[in-house]
Amino acid sequence: MHHFHYRSGVLHAEDVSLARIAAEVGTPVYVYSAATLERHYKVFTAAFAGQRARVFYAMKANSNLAVLKTLATLGAGADTVSEGEIRKALAAGVPASKIVFSGVGKSDAELAFAIDAGIYQINIETEGELLALSRIAAAKGRRPSAVFRVNPDVGAGGHAKITTGSSDNKFGISIGDAGRLYDVAANLPGVNMVGLAVHIGSQIRELDELEAAFQRLRDLSKGLKAQGHSAERLDLGGGLGIPYEMSEAVDHGPSLIQAYAAMIKRIFAGMDVELGFEPGRLIAGNAGILLTRVLHLNQRPQKTFVVVDAAMNDLVRPAMYEAFHDIWPVQEAGHAAVRQPYDVVGPICESGDTFATARPLPQTKPGDLIAFMTAGAYGSSMSSTYNSRLLVPEVMVKGAEFAVVRPRQTWDELLGQDRLPKWL
Ligand SMILES: *Cc1c(COP(=O)(O)O)cnc(C)c1O
Repeated sequence: MHHFHYRSGVLHAEDVSLARIAAEVGTPVYVYSAATLERHYKVFTAAFAGQRARVFYAMKANSNLAVLKTLATLGAGADTVSEGEIRKALAAGVPASKIVFSGVGKSDAELAFAIDAGIYQINIETEGELLALSRIAAAKGRRPSAVFRVNPDVGAGGHAKITTGSSDNKFGISIGDAGRLYDVAANLPGVNMVGLAVHIGSQIRELDELEAAFQRLRDLSKGLKAQGHSAERLDLGGGLGIPYEMSEAVDHGPSLIQAYAAMIKRIFAGMDVELGFEPGRLIAGNAGILLTRVLHLNQRPQKTFVVVDAAMNDLVRPAMYEAFHDIWPVQEAGHAAVRQPYDVVGPICESGDTFATARPLPQTKPGDLIAFMTAGAYGSSMSSTYNSRLLVPEVMVKGAEFAVVRPRQTWDELLGQDRLPKWL
């Protein structure tokens, strides 16, 4: 469920017209709905009410400080994957005691930063990282809590590039190695192993693979316990998917969350463990849209291209994952409007700069505003300045108010990033 809907024929974010935002801020622009973010976070946490559970928003999905602070205000923790994300989480008011540090390759400097910040938990992915953490922390006289991210050899997710749990993927220690590494860790200073983590992929809409991975995690934690180790924190990662297609829009989300929660309750029943969750897409995905303006039509005998002012550097998901984004015109077309297939493309000199192929849309003309729906997760956070395009601004709407939560980059900022060597 989300708060983007038509009012008097114009698409609104909550109570604010997207036409107004386009006029005042320009396009392309990301627009977020605070009420949608809040709702998703609340629905998710409510599903685990009464259990020992902690929710760490996976901020790589959308790390705008306003998004983080909206969630932090509700009590959310943060799942981070870099020093930059830890810094942003702290800046947004997420206490260190609610920050988890995940990631395949953490540098010594990042580990040192995380230790100094006193974060809740470090998710270790290799033996080398275990040794590095222990060495760095011991030198500081510290003993941070850590878990092993295990690779359960269960892959899942909407696309090969977002599958992370197969043994062919680079993520985590193999599940069979966990016992040995726990023994290694038990003899190390500077690290306190407290549990295990898994994260098998993203955009997962079927629970079978998650269930298989969680069963393996449960069995492993019981085995470790039998060996005298402590594995009482089980971090179950993120990965729950969301509907990207309007036709299935209405309320898939909550029922999937309920089913997920019930499955987890069943699998970990009777175990005295603390569960951790790292939802990203589920929280931010349909809380945001990318608003863009049609620049030109390029009519060919066999098809018509709609060239818009947003491009793959602003929203890379279609180019990178063949991802589908619904496209809604800001001026409502009405059910009777004739639709015709369009290819919707950006201005970048790459054929991959294509948002949609043969997409049925109402009559579209230059100057029209259209919205790429469900662009709140892995949208802005994956954007770049490719083609020397300015980073897209971000707007947050709350009720009848809106605020620019990231201004459009300026030409001075863009040009000021580079330095000339002295021989030029
Ligand atoms: C990306 C990631 C997440 C969030 O994934 P979503 O599919 O957005 O929920 C959670 N945990 C880890 C370790 C990740 O890498």
